[in-house]
Amino acid sequence: MPSPPPFARWLDETNDVTQVFLAAGQVPDLVNLAGGLPEPALWPVDALADLAARAVREHPKEALGYPPIDGLPALRDAIAARFSTVDLRLGRENVLITTGGMQGLELIGKVLLDEGDVIAAQTPAYLGALDAWRPRGPRYRPVRMEEEAPDLPYLMRGAKFTYTVPNFSNPTGRLVSVARRQALVKAAQETGVWLVEDDPYGALYYDCGPLPRMLDLCGGAPYAGPVIYLGTLSKELAPGLRVGWVIAAPEMIAALTTAKQGSDMCTSGLSQQVACMAFETGLCEQVLPDILSLYRARRDALCAAMAEHLDALFEWEVPTGGMFVWARARDARLDTDLLMREGLAHGVCVSPSSVFDPEGRDRAAVRINFTLNPPDSLAEGVRRLAAASRAVLGR
Ligand code: PMP
Repeated sequence: MPSPPPFARWLDETNDVTQVFLAAGQVPDLVNLAGGLPEPALWPVDALADLAARAVREHPKEALGYPPIDGLPALRDAIAARFSTVDLRLGRENVLITTGGMQGLELIGKVLLDEGDVIAAQTPAYLGALDAWRPRGPRYRPVRMEEEAPDLPYLMRGAKFTYTVPNFSNPTGRLVSVARRQALVKAAQETGVWLVEDDPYGALYYDCGPLPRMLDLCGGAPYAGPVIYLGTLSKELAPGLRVGWVIAAPEMIAALTTAKQGSDMCTSGLSQQVACMAFETGLCEQVLPDILSLYRARRDALCAAMAEHLDALFEWEVPTGGMFVWARARDARLDTDLLMREGLAHGVCVSPSSVFDPEGRDRAAVRINFTLNPPDSLAEGVRRLAAASRAVLGR
């Protein structure tokens, strides 16, 4: 079995799991089930190359100059138009272009959080959000999404914002029900607490049509509601573009724009111009069917291999979209921080639950990604994970 000694040593030295996820792709023979990475073969390379060449030649001012801090007007208009509905009227003033969805999270922290402030958060929570807000020293109040919680306004009151990933949460892959979305919007309206809807996986529905966004449920003409919606092209087109957006009430967009000025001044004009042309030419719609069928097949392959090799060790729900399966150990002695290290020695990398817990306490689950690897590698990764789990349990 190929073990990667420098890599394992590095984990001990850095103790930074995110860097390990990203570096896992460089290690030969390691099955990387840890990250949230898309399949590179799905990127429309030729179409994007054409758009990039056209962007530079036909729109040099937009592509090569400093774009406005809040984004290219044409792109902001395109996003406002894409997300407007009969009941939700969005204009350019509702949209800020960000450098990936990740920057939206960071800017929200910059604008809203002071030391010790409370975030009412769906937990376990996206590691990147925890990383983005950690320097501001927030406290977390967990909000359960999978049950009809008795008193959402009680949980939200006094928080600076509520954070949720309603479509196929990272890390759990779970979908928040329509009733729960309605209750969250109602509670946000009642309490006046901002409701952050982080939605990178909103197009990745494999088994049914999309549920309404909380943004849609707010409505508004013009929109001035409590939802701060975060979108991105990372999962639908390519993460390297680093194009994301925030949709929010105009005063929130203005505050986030001021914060962005001190962060990176502007998002790459070249990427924004390419994004604009990708929307104009319908490129996202063209690539989506291939993304859905490939990821659906990989989800099925992973879950079949898990049913064969991991059933005695873990329990999980089959996700109906997104990129992850969340598996909880049946035996509490299966410490998943140890499993991550043991997994590396067995040639597989998964994400341990502790990194998604604001308190770092949950050491009994793993997040398994199914989008990056073909079915045979997924099955091999699952076999290695089963062997590593048995090694941790000492049997
Ligand atoms: N939010 C969540 C829940 C995510 O999983 C991700 C990507 N892993 C992001 C935001 C940010 O993605 P990006 O910066 O690539 O748009």
